[in-house]
Amino acid sequence: MNHIKNSILAFICLLSAAMFVSCTHQKREFSSYDQYPTRTDDLVEMVYTPQSTSFALWAPTADEVRLMLFDEGTGGHPYETVPMKQNTQDGTWRITIDKNLVGKFYTFNVKINDKWQGDTPGINARAVGVNGKRAAIIDMKATNPAGWDNDKGPAVKSPADIVLYEVHHRDFSIDSTSGIKNKGKYLAMTEKGTRNPDNLPTGIDHLKDLGVTHVHILPSYDYASIDESKLEENKYNWGYDPQNYNVPEGSYSTNPADPAVRINEFKQMVQALHNEGIGVVLDVVYNHTFNTEDSNFERTVPGYFYRHKADGTLANGSGCGNETASDREMMRKYMIESVLYWMNEYHIDGFRFDLMGIHDIETMNAIQEAAKAVNPNVFIYGEGWAAEAPIYPADSLAMKANAYKMPGIAVFSDELRDGLRGPFNNDKQAAFLAGVPGEEESVKFGIVGAINHPQINYASVNYTDTAWAAEPTQMISYISCHDDMCVVDRLKETVPGITPDQIARLDKLGQTVVFTSQGVPFIYAGEEVLRDKKGVHNSYISPDSINAIDWSRKTQNKDAYDYYKNLIALRKAHPAFRMGNAEMVRQYLEFLPVEGDNLVAYMLKDNANGDSWKDIIVAFNGRNTAAQLQVPAGKYTVVCRDGQINQSGLGTVYGPEVTIPAQSALIIHN
Ligand code: CA
Repeated sequence: MNHIKNSILAFICLLSAAMFVSCTHQKREFSSYDQYPTRTDDLVEMVYTPQSTSFALWAPTADEVRLMLFDEGTGGHPYETVPMKQNTQDGTWRITIDKNLVGKFYTFNVKINDKWQGDTPGINARAVGVNGKRAAIIDMKATNPAGWDNDKGPAVKSPADIVLYEVHHRDFSIDSTSGIKNKGKYLAMTEKGTRNPDNLPTGIDHLKDLGVTHVHILPSYDYASIDESKLEENKYNWGYDPQNYNVPEGSYSTNPADPAVRINEFKQMVQALHNEGIGVVLDVVYNHTFNTEDSNFERTVPGYFYRHKADGTLANGSGCGNETASDREMMRKYMIESVLYWMNEYHIDGFRFDLMGIHDIETMNAIQEAAKAVNPNVFIYGEGWAAEAPIYPADSLAMKANAYKMPGIAVFSDELRDGLRGPFNNDKQAAFLAGVPGEEESVKFGIVGAINHPQINYASVNYTDTAWAAEPTQMISYISCHDDMCVVDRLKETVPGITPDQIARLDKLGQTVVFTSQGVPFIYAGEEVLRDKKGVHNSYISPDSINAIDWSRKTQNKDAYDYYKNLIALRKAHPAFRMGNAEMVRQYLEFLPVEGDNLVAYMLKDNANGDSWKDIIVAFNGRNTAAQLQVPAGKYTVVCRDGQINQSGLGTVYGPEVTIPAQSALIIHN
């Protein structure tokens, strides 16, 4: 097909020779990015078959494009440099090489106004050599593990049924107590039967035992900050520095120099999790690139993929030096195709959009629609904010306040998070959990899932004065994630003289709010064993001594672990906690009147959402003394009290007054 196109193009070039100096110098002046000719076919840059390999780079402003072929993924010189042929209709430069190029590497170099932009693997490399500087030509089918064609993620009836577990490959497995062989690797999540020194499950067995439904892996596309050729240096990074969006990161593979290995091992990880019924969510960072001037975007179509301020300088909504322009046609297309590629090639079940507030609403809705068409179980959520104000109309950005304009897409609730533990920007400031009054409405806001509810005073909710979610499943319910203190550290920082017993009590109380919320619950890996990060708030480059999860804590904090496990099981067993529908929440969730501060209580009534329990009363006491609560008269079975959970009952209490022990949650039902 490309052959034919190129022949036609060559013929047209001959005809046009009288008007143009030469075919490769056809130059159109564009007065705006919108005038750039666009690709209608997929933005695929390389298609391999054993007979021939076709290349196509979208570079509408180029005067000349060269394809360079290499024997190696790094070092040396190209063994061949091939001029590519321009197609002015769609802005691409194409060439087909009639040889079997498997095992070779390639880069493009784009010349604009007599300046070569520099080598780039393109914007859409799908396999790369070490450190992602050259794209690789491999047989993708050969990277599939056995049984891959039958691999499938979990079915999701409602996003309210999802339990998210945010994990970094290295944190999860690097410590000696993990008992995992492939430490810091994708393969860590494929090992069954791993145990901590006291023979308690770690790794994938731990995830299964805990009961999470989806693992949300921190950025695992190819990022720039770890030198993949020097893994012995044991450098750490979260990975929010994108380089190649459509290739797995090499440092988590057992051999970054072999392009097929990272792809195969990533797929093995997905398959192993799927085999346990656990979905995989990818953290995607399309909002900025690590490099700007030397990024693959900039070396291919300078300016086009980024937003700029009125003075021509780069906008910086990411706080990392640039912000991408999702609103531009080819960037939007790129993001949609990238998401679909991860779904189709790697069987990814969900996406967490970093700084989603930089992207525009139209793009996010288009992504959601395209992704749902591939897999109706897909779940998309993101950070509904930006680091700085993006250069784009605020009412068109995928910000938290606009969540209701993005049906089915969820955003993190900092209202609930900070209402419980205190604000992001001040680690020392406490909130509900530490007995600080005034956060009750923020906690209530999180309980209902950020929807409109007649019993919430929105004027008293932090950060927002309206219900931004149309449905409760649009809210991610959480108390900590990677880029903050973990709960233990936060409690130590905000509650002077706190004892280990109080830490455990308040940790359980906070997570009980999260897991009984009508939003979608989310925990940061290791919270369930009361991990800490030695007080570090931003641990993005901290060493293993800070970030690694010490799995001996699972033994030391077995009581807390059991609580987390029982809490997740309670949510899964009782549909009243996950109604997934705003109308139903308004009808069946009723807040109960309370006396004084730091006490929030509500009732899930009348077998809400088909629950087997008629009325469920949930109460949260942030005080350091016991609290009394008025409830309808009658007999209740206690299922959660004073830091213990047992679905089959911890005893009986009678209304109209029940006691909630200090710093704990109470759940009773009749
Ligand atoms: Ca990398």
